[in-house]
Amino acid sequence: MDIQMVDLRRQNQRLRPELDRAIGEVIDEAHFINGPQVKRFADRLAEYLSVPYVVPCGNGTDALQIALMALDLRPGDEVIVPAFTYVAAAEVVALLGLIPVWVDVDPETFTINPGLVEGAFSGKTRAIVAVNLFGQCANLEPLRRIADDNGVYLIEDNAQSLGADYRFADGQVRKAGTVGHIGTTSFFPSKPLACFGDGGALMTSDKRWAERAKMIATHGQRVKYHHELLGCNSRLDTLQAAILEVKLPHLAEFNAARQSVAARYHAALADDPRWITPVERSYSTHLYHQYTLRVKAGQRDDLREYLKTKGVPSMVYYPLPMQKQEAFYGFARKGSTLGVAEELANSVLSLPIHTEMTDEEVAYIIDMLKHYGRE
Ligand SMILES: *Cc1c(COP(=O)(O)O)cnc(C)c1O
Repeated sequence: MDIQMVDLRRQNQRLRPELDRAIGEVIDEAHFINGPQVKRFADRLAEYLSVPYVVPCGNGTDALQIALMALDLRPGDEVIVPAFTYVAAAEVVALLGLIPVWVDVDPETFTINPGLVEGAFSGKTRAIVAVNLFGQCANLEPLRRIADDNGVYLIEDNAQSLGADYRFADGQVRKAGTVGHIGTTSFFPSKPLACFGDGGALMTSDKRWAERAKMIATHGQRVKYHHELLGCNSRLDTLQAAILEVKLPHLAEFNAARQSVAARYHAALADDPRWITPVERSYSTHLYHQYTLRVKAGQRDDLREYLKTKGVPSMVYYPLPMQKQEAFYGFARKGSTLGVAEELANSVLSLPIHTEMTDEEVAYIIDMLKHYGRE
């Protein structure tokens, strides 16, 4: 058995004829930058998300940077960032001279705890970044309300949850990435919707921010060689857009495939007192970009080693909370106590999950977990 955390080869093999055709067209047309595929893909993604504007860019980290620049945040402004997450949001906040303010997360969903956000505000707070982590939305409705009540922006980092649904208390459903003022995503090869390299996009309902984001991604110009804003160079390649055009119609099926693996893990592992299986909240669907256990104190690394000897890979997303990352020493601010983030960094373990897992692989992984400590 060849168990991978994410198996890109099998998915691409399955879609190979369609991919070959799309890539062949790009080669034949030789319109490698801003070819027609780029706009076409952006329009299709906008339609899929039911959002008026999608602005493609070079990667998910750039998307976050461009979002902050489009909202015209200025050096010294504070941005609330979850303490347990991937580094991208905090990094671009700091690179722009903004001040990251760490807020603790909910222990069951790993996403920013809305109850702690207002307590972290100062007179300089301008934005909140919510990360829809591991395939499930943060609790976006209260976050959006807090943002609107306080005149700050909500940015949704949706790199891990493209296609998830957020359900409002009144029953209204919106796609993840479209509840905040601006949403961002990544098409990195392991993400739910993946290209063959780097790619990213922003999404928004606001025409002004969409226009600004588009300009910023092209050196701040609307008209060529007329630079109205300070920008950067961040493009989605035509080749990547062509690949994404092939994959977008399969996104729902990809997400369903991971959900069915998660259901099998859950049925077999949920009652085991040695770990806690992922919790699903009623306000969000869960795409299981990661299937992340919380392992009893002190046993996580041992379990990981054991699984490795059995040919089962696993990963720790993420081993250090933001407040413990050396890069931020000295200029970030703690907006709340951060005990949950610290606890999670010591207890989380993500199991293999991807769109092409076989029943035998899932059964084998479950077997190995059940045998752990009982051999
Ligand atoms: C992958 C990821 C990013 C960054 O995307 P890149 O395309 O690699 O720059 C940002 N945020 C989260 C939560 C991610 O998982």
